Amino acid sequence: MEFEQGFFHKQSRPFIIAGPCSAESETQMLKTAEALAEKECVHVFRSGIWKPRTHPGYFEGAGDKALKWLSKVKNNTGLLTATEVITPEHAERAMEAGIDVLWIGARTTGNPIYVQALADVFKGTSVKLMVKNPLHPDINLWCGAIQRFYKAGIKDIAAVHRGFYPFEKTAFRNLPLWEIPIDIQLRNKNLPVFCDPSHIAGKTNHIATIAQQAMDLNMSGLMVEVHYYPENALTDKQQQLRPEDLVQLLDNLTIRKRNFKDQAYIKRIVQYRKEIDQVDYQLLDLLKQRQDLVEEIAVHKKNMDVNILQLKRWESIIKTRLDYAEQNKLSKSFVLKLLQAIHKEAIRIQTGIMHDSNDPDDE
Ligand code: PEP
Ligand code: MN
Repeated sequence: MEFEQGFFHKQSRPFIIAGPCSAESETQMLKTAEALAEKECVHVFRSGIWKPRTHPGYFEGAGDKALKWLSKVKNNTGLLTATEVITPEHAERAMEAGIDVLWIGARTTGNPIYVQALADVFKGTSVKLMVKNPLHPDINLWCGAIQRFYKAGIKDIAAVHRGFYPFEKTAFRNLPLWEIPIDIQLRNKNLPVFCDPSHIAGKTNHIATIAQQAMDLNMSGLMVEVHYYPENALTDKQQQLRPEDLVQLLDNLTIRKRNFKDQAYIKRIVQYRKEIDQVDYQLLDLLKQRQDLVEEIAVHKKNMDVNILQLKRWESIIKTRLDYAEQNKLSKSFVLKLLQAIHKEAIRIQTGIMHDSNDPDDE
């Protein structure tokens, strides 16, 4: 899909959306918003009103009354406002209350029925929409949600990368899996993509690094959780910055050029790219050479009635190649992934030859 220049493109980069995880009280909202407005570092003030919580019995948001607090924020500070909507009723009430930007949360994006119900409500409106990635790393589900809104006639859409559920314990609350926000830029021309470093980090100490990486990966802006007094926050207290911390983070952020027209720079880049192209074709030629050998070995094993999988050999390939990778200062985890992909393909080819079958993968 291709997106036209709209609301999210027109602001200066980085476009900053900041505010508390949840609206807790009028005082909390105004204190946070006034501090942010005074520092002139934010385009839109965010706050969750209806909070989808994992377990019952926790603070689930202030609900409808918080819409008035957001309006007051807008009146008092001049900041635009944003909130998350989950149901069509939320969407109607938020639009009636004049909230400027609505976002679709990770738990909603993962459900096409909810997304469609929201898209039906947005039809014919000029809503400005941000669509967070679903909890699990399914780019199709993310793109599908964006498509549903686009098809409903919504033109001002941005994606928000908030990381993905980690099945193992990691330093982050959610895994960045940067290849996914890169792929979404590739699949949707001109789609503004934001990063939410707060929900990726889960703790304040990693937020700046993630924010910098997001900007280096071409993202348009950041959605950051900020609370005037994070220690007392009712939700996500470990990841909320103070207004002054956000200012410092933004001051330290390097915003690099998206591209550069300088002739000397372009000349050098073209040269590097030529060399990289050559290496890529060499890699592909080598893979073809390896594939031919795999086919021959498969026929040999078949003729001799020997198993395809030879565990000892596979074990020794991993060990020797990883040692070699280490000597050559290549990342062992990267090389392991590469070897696993190569081995998977070798097994697929050998299985096909052993059973004279055409694998559905083999186009
Ligand atoms: C939020 O932004 O407060 C939020 C709940 O985010 P997510 O949907 O990404 O979990
Ligand atoms: Mn939150």
